[in-house]
Amino acid sequence: ESQIKNSNTDVLIIGAGPSGLMAATWLARAGVPFRIIDKRSDKIFSGQADGLQSRTLEVFQSFSGSSFDMTGLDSAWKMANHMIELCFWNPDENGNLVRSSRIPDSIPGISRFQQIVIHQGYIERWFDETIKNFSEGQSKVERPYLPISLSIDESKVEDKDAYAVKVLVKNLASEDVSNPEQFNAKVANGLYRQFEGDQERFYSNSIDIEHDPNVNVDDYEIINCKYVLGADGAHSWVRKQLGIDMEGESTDFVWGVLDAVPITDFPDIRHRCAIHSLESGSVMVIPRENDLVRLYIQLKEVPRDPLTTTDVSDNDSKEHAKGRIDRSKITPELILKNAQDIFKPFKFEIEDIDWFTGYQIGQRVSPKFSKFNRVFISGDACHTHSPKAGQGMNVSMMDTFNLGFKLALVCKGLAKLDILETYESERIEVAKELIAFDHKLSRLFSGKPMIPNSQAFQDGVDMDEFHKVFQKGGEFASGTIVDYADSLLIDKSLTHPVDEDGNSFSSIAKKVAVGRRLNSTLIECQADGRPIHIADRILSDGRFRVLVFAGDVNSYPQNLKILEEFDTFLKSDKHFSKKYTPVNALDNSVIDIITIHGSKRHDVEIFDFPEFTRPTDHKHRRDYWRLYTGIDSTYHEGDINAYEYYGIDTKNGAIIVVRPDGYVAKITNFDSNGLHQIDQYFDKFMIPQNSNVLTPKDKLINDRDR
Ligand code: FAD
Repeated sequence: ESQIKNSNTDVLIIGAGPSGLMAATWLARAGVPFRIIDKRSDKIFSGQADGLQSRTLEVFQSFSGSSFDMTGLDSAWKMANHMIELCFWNPDENGNLVRSSRIPDSIPGISRFQQIVIHQGYIERWFDETIKNFSEGQSKVERPYLPISLSIDESKVEDKDAYAVKVLVKNLASEDVSNPEQFNAKVANGLYRQFEGDQERFYSNSIDIEHDPNVNVDDYEIINCKYVLGADGAHSWVRKQLGIDMEGESTDFVWGVLDAVPITDFPDIRHRCAIHSLESGSVMVIPRENDLVRLYIQLKEVPRDPLTTTDVSDNDSKEHAKGRIDRSKITPELILKNAQDIFKPFKFEIEDIDWFTGYQIGQRVSPKFSKFNRVFISGDACHTHSPKAGQGMNVSMMDTFNLGFKLALVCKGLAKLDILETYESERIEVAKELIAFDHKLSRLFSGKPMIPNSQAFQDGVDMDEFHKVFQKGGEFASGTIVDYADSLLIDKSLTHPVDEDGNSFSSIAKKVAVGRRLNSTLIECQADGRPIHIADRILSDGRFRVLVFAGDVNSYPQNLKILEEFDTFLKSDKHFSKKYTPVNALDNSVIDIITIHGSKRHDVEIFDFPEFTRPTDHKHRRDYWRLYTGIDSTYHEGDINAYEYYGIDTKNGAIIVVRPDGYVAKITNFDSNGLHQIDQYFDKFMIPQNSNVLTPKDKLINDRDR
């Protein structure tokens, strides 16, 4: 009989960086049992990634918009530095550094949030707070824990209730290795001596944990899991256990990163700037919180160490051959010297260095993101690239924002295992696009500039092209145009094939693309007249939404008739919402049906509409938050018109199904057949609930979510 502690959990998350924390947030929100471990004993407090893109902020809002999380992720928008303008500086005909153009930093109208910057430590802290709030203090990151072995019982992978994965973990609290030593410890920096080499000793086959008298069995635990997520960064241990190698290449360009308060006469220091100097390289300027400015600088002279192997990532033969940069020799002074050369003739000194690091740009992507749909990898474990477009942390969080709700639906027994396949199919495409984008941008950024009307550097980077790639890239970088393909969860059948940009717009809601996130606009509550962003009504709480755009019911009374037919359908036992909702849960706790009509609020009354748009519970309490108008003149927010915003005709209406992550899953006609179409969508992957009963915790969440 083993003396090692054995325990069970639905999901074990290995790694508490942004990617792991986002997964934990979903699971805490949905009330699914999980654990999250990290080998570091400390959180990070400065440096690392800093840019938060529009889509990420929408997602933060979708968690924090709920009244149970007032202290967590919604702090980002308030505390971070907002980036408004991007300036390009290049040499003119005479080789002098001049501002060549200015563009908005985020494309206007693309989202209600624009790019902001704040360091990763804050973000991880807000996640901790959010997880605590959602789990009512039950869940938090367990540190320092190192996974020692992982095995998948293949005979159990098809059984949805089976704990098919076994992970042996070790508590490192007594080992004194969990705080990686830093080079140049005078200033906080990202130049850790890799702790990977040191941890190898815990993996030795010769250690017999159960019988070796030197081993304290109390330090070990076997965690039996239904699912495991490896969100353990670029050197992912989980990825190695799955036998997956990254694919891609590295380059010669070496970059330094410096966070400091500058003293300068450069006029655009509080703007984001891309500066190409004539001969001294390039710099990206990122104004930050607390008067800090981050510089990403291409380093010209970098000491290399041909013998360095400890921190070389896998498959890095090129770097092995050349020798990796000797990170211990990268100092803030070295980075500053490079910066001063690039900024000339402007003066550039610094005070208060906050953080610095140095790295070599490479672009790599994992060919697989999962094994048996039981063990998944996400974030840097799947894709690594340069940081200039501010994508690393954002895409890493969006990976698990995609996976989290799917794991929650499966763990709660609401959806079939098959939906987990869509994690890899959806996110691998995003990773590939990201690598292609970064490849293009970083080469244009790192090359020497071509000088207008001059013979110098004719093979250099064309600044017009750089400008265009940057501008076009802004759309991609915002994260708002991610477009998931047809799958079990995305049904593009009633959409036009594609437009020239590859978007599947529907003829029913002409400005809504199936497969993309539903952009938000204001609607107004019929009962109390309060304007609300649609995104704030469809928060990330694990529910699907069916948005019934019923059109103008005054001008087109037949639209009310269709709503009456829906009411009859929804009272039957056979429709999707009843079929797939546990018997003791609220009727909208799995699929939430919201009606948005197209008449002015004062021209109709809530009781003109059938019961399902304003239902009552067993105590006769009415739910007023299911009936809205999309067209009105509001007292404080001006005119609103969701019909125009989404390209929906007020005569014909539309029905839009939105997934729990806010992506448009299906669009269909608002007619007698409409809800049957929706029924078919859910039939493909949901599990009929019959007698399934919610746990008390689920019930609590449902009640609070009314
Ligand atoms: P990570 O943030 O790397 O998190 C992985 C977590 O897993 C860590 O907490 C780690 O301790 C833990 N872990 C790893 N192995 C194990 C294991 N075996 N067992 C248990 N836990 C484990 N991006 C930018 O955009 N700009 C930058 O300037 C920038 N600088 C960076 C500097 C450094 C030093 C690093 C490491 C990254 C930097 N990045 C930067 C990248 C950005 O931080 C990442 O893209 C982002 O953090 C990815 O999130 P993640 O959760 O996937 O991985």
